Amino acid sequence: MEEKVIEARNLMKSFGDLDVLKGVDLDLLKGENLVVLGKSGSGKSVLIKIMVGLLKQDSGAMRVLGKDVANLGVKELNKLRLKIGFSFQNSALYDSMTVKENLEFPLVRNIKNLSRKEKDKKIEGLLDSVGLPQSINQMPSELSGGQKKRIGVARTLILEPEIMLYDEPTAGLDPITCMDINNLIVQVREEYNTSSIVITHDLTCAKVTGDRQAVLLDGQFDAVGTFEEVFPHAEDKRIKSFYDYNF
Ligand code: ADP
Ligand code: MG
Repeated sequence: MEEKVIEARNLMKSFGDLDVLKGVDLDLLKGENLVVLGKSGSGKSVLIKIMVGLLKQDSGAMRVLGKDVANLGVKELNKLRLKIGFSFQNSALYDSMTVKENLEFPLVRNIKNLSRKEKDKKIEGLLDSVGLPQSINQMPSELSGGQKKRIGVARTLILEPEIMLYDEPTAGLDPITCMDINNLIVQVREEYNTSSIVITHDLTCAKVTGDRQAVLLDGQFDAVGTFEEVFPHAEDKRIKSFYDYNF
């Protein structure tokens, strides 16, 4: 049987009268890129916040790397989070730090006893991976939107996470830069052996990056499968409109 790195079971989450997740079941298999689609406000970000313990579900279970997230103590939760790289929708670089300092920050905070040489090697290796070795001493304000995203991905990768969570990685980028970031997400999986969830409402991003697609509709995942299985012949009007609008 395939190993599951994330398992959500009958997950429910409401905010007051607003029922956001209404019985979510979802598996992320080891080594796969799973795309989560859904319109704005459908609960995609809430779902990944529950995965990293930033929000707690009302009922149901969320297991990540075998741990029941909602029942972890602070210490265990922090340990788990080190294995998960999450790049938030609005996660920004620290404007007053150089690119190098931005990448160094999580290293210094989380890994003690790393020599200067080891740190530099890691940082240089990652900047090579994301195609921006020449930016090492630049300030974020000197970078384009796409370059900032790349550096953000590099910063997320620096602690060598087993799981990557990308929350709308291509939002607000022009189509060519979008394609760049999509390719980077695919490349990261190959190069760093991560399992990833990519949240998006861009169907091109979904097609390029996803081994499987999961569509969040009215608080549940209705359609889960390959792009070809889920989209071109969808009978559900809501999924069809997604497809028709994008292609
Ligand atoms: P999206 O699919 O666009 O990422 P979200 O997961 O951010 O949507 O939000 C889903 C719904 O839950 C939205 O209506 C949002 O306003 C609501 N919501 C999210 N977080 C909170 C919160 N901490 N308190 C109250 N409502 C929230
Ligand atoms: Mg969101």
